[in-house]
Amino acid sequence: MNHQAVKCDSPVFNSSLISTDEALTFLLDSAVVVDCKEHVSLDDSLGRVLASDIHSNINVPGFDNSAMDGYAIAIKDSQLPKTKHSFNVIDRIPAGKVGGKLKQGCAARIFTGAPIPPGANSVIMQEECEVSEDGTLITISRSIKLNENIRPTGNDIAEGDVILCMGKKIQPQDISLAASVGVSELIVFKKVVVGVFFTGDELVDPGLPLGPGKIYNSNRYALVSLIKQAGCEVVNLGNVEDKLSATCSALENLEKKCDLIMTTGGVSVGEEDYVRPAVESLGELKLWKIRMKPGKPLAYGRISKTPFIGLPGNPVSSFVTYCIFALPYIKKMQGNEKYKPKSIKVKANFNCKRAKPRREFARARLDYSTGSPVANLYPKQGSDVMSSIVWSDGLIEIPEDMTFEAGETLNFFPINELTE
Ligand code: AMP
Ligand code: MG
Repeated sequence: MNHQAVKCDSPVFNSSLISTDEALTFLLDSAVVVDCKEHVSLDDSLGRVLASDIHSNINVPGFDNSAMDGYAIAIKDSQLPKTKHSFNVIDRIPAGKVGGKLKQGCAARIFTGAPIPPGANSVIMQEECEVSEDGTLITISRSIKLNENIRPTGNDIAEGDVILCMGKKIQPQDISLAASVGVSELIVFKKVVVGVFFTGDELVDPGLPLGPGKIYNSNRYALVSLIKQAGCEVVNLGNVEDKLSATCSALENLEKKCDLIMTTGGVSVGEEDYVRPAVESLGELKLWKIRMKPGKPLAYGRISKTPFIGLPGNPVSSFVTYCIFALPYIKKMQGNEKYKPKSIKVKANFNCKRAKPRREFARARLDYSTGSPVANLYPKQGSDVMSSIVWSDGLIEIPEDMTFEAGETLNFFPINELTE
C-alpha cells in the first residue's frame, strides 16, 4: 500500500506549538460520548457511567421506624413534662414485624428498624428504662419529648426523588442507594473499547532476556492498566516495528474494532518515528506539539472516524500526557460528567528563577508537617525517570512564563485524580 502524507488543515495544528490549555480545550471539545447504552445488574455496575437519571418509586424508609433498641411508648401530650413515667409493656416488635395499636400509658419493646406501632409517639432507648423483673412494666425518670428516636417515613429519600443523575460514574455508595429504592438494574453507557500498540524496535517484553541496546516495554504495562482502571476494554496489539507499513497496518486493524486508538512512541520528528506520518496518511492529524513538559510531542487525530491519541515514548511523558489529556478524553467519551481532574492549592518548596517556556507537570510529594501542604520535588525530573512517578503523590503544575520564590501557591493534582 502507498501511504502518502496528506496535508492537515486544522487551525490548531497550523500553529507549531500550542499551549496546554488550548490543546486540552480542543481535545475535549471534540470528544464524543459513545452512543450505545446497555442494562447492567447492580453487581456489574461498579465504575460504569449512568446513561439515565434514576428515580425512586418509594419512600425510604417506607414507614416511621425506631432508631434505637428500646421501648415505643404512647404518652399523652399533657404528661410529657413529668419527670417520672410508667408504662405497661404489652407488645414486642423486632425489625421485620408489625406491632398492634398502643393505647395511652402502654409501651412496646422495640428494636432498631422496627415500625413504630400505631398510637406510639416516642421511643425511649433501653438504657434509660428501668424494667420490672417480669418485664411487664417500665419506668422512665425524666421528661419526654414527642418523636424521640423515631425515623420518619421518607427521611432519606422521598417517592419521586431523582437519586442518581445521568453522567455519574457509579461508586459503591451509588449502588447501595439504588438498591435501597429497589432498583435492580441500571442503564449505563457502553464500555469504551481502546485499541493500543507500542512502537519501538528496542522494546522487549518483561520475562524475556534483554539483548544489546534493548529495553523492557514498560509503557505497555502503565497504559493497559491505566485504561483498564478507567473502566475501558483494551485491544492490545503489543509491540509494533518502527516501519511505516507496520504502523499503518496496526492502525487500520484497530480502527475497525475500537472507539479510540492509543499508542506510545514514534511521534517525534526522528527518522524512526512513523506514527505521525501513518496517521496523516490514513486519516487526519489535528494536534501535534504541545507547550508542556514532559510530553511535548502528543499527536491527536483520527483514523477514518476513530479518534487517535499518540502519546510520547518516554515513560514519564506518556504517563503524564495520558493523565492530563487522554483520561479526561476517555471520561468524556464514557459520558462521565466529571472528566477533569481536580487540583488543590499547595505551597512550592522550591523556586523558579528563570521563566519556563513550557508548562511543567513536575513530580512532587506533599509534606503536611507544618499544617498546610508543601510540595517537594523529586530530585530527578527527567522524562525517562519513572521512579519519580512512583515516588510522588502527584503532579505540581508550574505555569509557563513565570518566575517565583519558594512559598508560591501552585496547583497540585493528586495522583488518584489523575489516574482514576
Ligand atoms: P520515541 O518517542 O519513540 O522516540 O521514544 C522516546 C524514548 O522512550 C526512547 O528512549 C524510547 O526507547 C523510550 N520508549 C519508547 N517506547 C517505550 C516503551 N514502550 N517502554 C519504555 N520506554 C519506551
Ligand atoms: Mg521510538
